[in-house]
Amino acid sequence: MFNRGIVLGKVWGILIEIDFSWFWIFLLVSWSLGFGVFPELLPGFSTLLQVSIGILAALFLFVSVLAHEMAHSLVARKFGLPVEKITLFLFGGISNLSDEPSTPKVEFFLAAAGPALSLVLAASFWAISLFPQSQPLQALFSTLGLINFSLAIFNLLPGYPLDGGRILRSILWATSKNLDRSTYWAAIGGQFIAGLIIGLGALQMILSFALSGLWLILIGFYLFRNAKASYEAYLLISELRDKSVSDLASSNFLAVESSASIKDLWEELIEDGTGTFLLIEENQVRGVVRKASLSRVKESDLSMPIVSISTPLDDGAYLRPGDSVVASLAKYEKYETNTLPIVQKSQILGILRLEDIQIFLQSARKQRKD
Ligand SMILES: [Zn+2]
Repeated sequence: MFNRGIVLGKVWGILIEIDFSWFWIFLLVSWSLGFGVFPELLPGFSTLLQVSIGILAALFLFVSVLAHEMAHSLVARKFGLPVEKITLFLFGGISNLSDEPSTPKVEFFLAAAGPALSLVLAASFWAISLFPQSQPLQALFSTLGLINFSLAIFNLLPGYPLDGGRILRSILWATSKNLDRSTYWAAIGGQFIAGLIIGLGALQMILSFALSGLWLILIGFYLFRNAKASYEAYLLISELRDKSVSDLASSNFLAVESSASIKDLWEELIEDGTGTFLLIEENQVRGVVRKASLSRVKESDLSMPIVSISTPLDDGAYLRPGDSVVASLAKYEKYETNTLPIVQKSQILGILRLEDIQIFLQSARKQRKD
């Protein structure tokens, strides 16, 4: 339910994943390079060669974006921030960080690492293109130089959540000491820049009927939405920042032996108002049964063991009462569950459902608005 992409493998312990939307962009980029850019740079060469160079350049673009994200991730790890995976999607990549950087300095270096690497790549490709070589290779390398340079410049635009917006936030944060306000203004910067890009795209389409204007409009809308969403995500995370698992825990659950049949427990389960049952085996939580799955049980299935309608929980799929809620969020994704038991010294202290976190956030949000 959480994965929308294809896992390529692990590099230095970081999972590399491609979102399905990426394939569209790969086709589009190959197309516009192979039929638009390279026919102009390489007139007189065959269409096959022009298109092949286009596809090659699109592949190199993919590696360049990956290297950019890898630079962010490795710097994050150097500062002790865990990075689980990198997802490459429609307009580039994203490194999955589980929490915000701890200081403006960390934020600055983390954000600057990606564009810095893109600039180094741009310089390297341009340098390679200066060596004597065949015309198609020369066109390929100089185009890759330009692509990496554009990647660096675009990402350095001072609008959150772009790298440049994060750099802006780190500077505001260092001077004002207020992360909330700094994030707010950096996100406003993001929306302002998105507006400029949309305007530029529209102007380009009106004045020169250029279809490339449409690209700018799309990127602008995407950035606008992202700036708003990132700021909201930031607010949510900051509500949860100093909450521990036990702060939001619920004791509303029923523990049942996993060897029992559905029939044995039927009345107890139906009458119980909690809606969540933990399956216990030798003092260990083995799974979770939700009331919703009970309602789907047919009469003929009543003699089946309760395990058959439970969601199993792997070893390690539990929380400790002192765990931070923000850090635990990754566990729900890892174990693909909505409910985790809170365990201390083999004692079950309660459960924490994703709904409980959502309900807390909704009320916190309401309080902030009032
Ligand atoms: Zn970046």
